[in-house]
Amino acid sequence: MGYADLHPWTELGDLPWQKQLLSLQSGEYTEQLQQSLCLARWDAELRKQKKNIFDQGVLVKNNFLSVDVQMLTSTVLEQIKNQGFTTIKIKMGRNSDLEIAALSRVAQFGLKLRLDFNGTGTLQSYTQLMDQLPGQVFELIEYVEDPFVFDLQEWQKAQAYAPLALDNQFAKVPWEELSDAPFAVIVLKPAKMDAVKVLELCRRYRLKLTVTSYMDHPIGVMHALGMAMELKNKQSDLILESGCLTHQLYQQDAFSAEMSAQGPYLQRVAGTGVGFDHLLEALPWQLANNI
Ligand code: MG
Repeated sequence: MGYADLHPWTELGDLPWQKQLLSLQSGEYTEQLQQSLCLARWDAELRKQKKNIFDQGVLVKNNFLSVDVQMLTSTVLEQIKNQGFTTIKIKMGRNSDLEIAALSRVAQFGLKLRLDFNGTGTLQSYTQLMDQLPGQVFELIEYVEDPFVFDLQEWQKAQAYAPLALDNQFAKVPWEELSDAPFAVIVLKPAKMDAVKVLELCRRYRLKLTVTSYMDHPIGVMHALGMAMELKNKQSDLILESGCLTHQLYQQDAFSAEMSAQGPYLQRVAGTGVGFDHLLEALPWQLANNI
């Protein structure tokens, strides 16, 4: 028996959970459900062998995730740096004045930057913001994620400012027509994307890869982390720092209470597979057709 979560973000275009479960009943699985089943199978194999997902390799480093730039005071940034973080990912596209001020503060601490616009905004709003950034900030930008909705020509223009990363705009890319990718990185979310397929695209277009969790249940976080470790073992030259430290965004529950991080490194959770054995056994499980 193996476990996985399924956490649709309807705000980002995922089908609601009710529809996902219906697809489990009908056998015509959604892509997200297919991934969940795949991860559950991996977990089952590890549990059968009495192995923990962390047995396969070295710990991977994660970026610090900021969803509120006003929290990034100099005191907090100093703490982040002292904890060993070298990269900070910032959710952008809400208030450019506050964001520009925060980026300048981050730059003073020499932390690398990943800016995520989640496909909001336009080429115009993007260039406006980027034109206002001090040179010191530019030097620290590792990449900009989904600056706005994917458009081949517009992303080519945006790329002139900083390397781009493709995340939630993945499905909009016309791969068959693409000879050169207007981005340098793909963000792989094992919760909804097939790692083998993404790895192949990375090789074909000479791209790097960042593995992130889906701001989902701790089960999904551990799966993403396990995937990052496995890929790092196999393809270390392609794999950048991960973004799996998302459980702290939520109120603590019995699962996240078992997780601990030392700075940018999430630690092993006790148990087999992705861990949490006794908690998973104690959950009240129901058949999907009873929901
Ligand atoms: Mg993103």
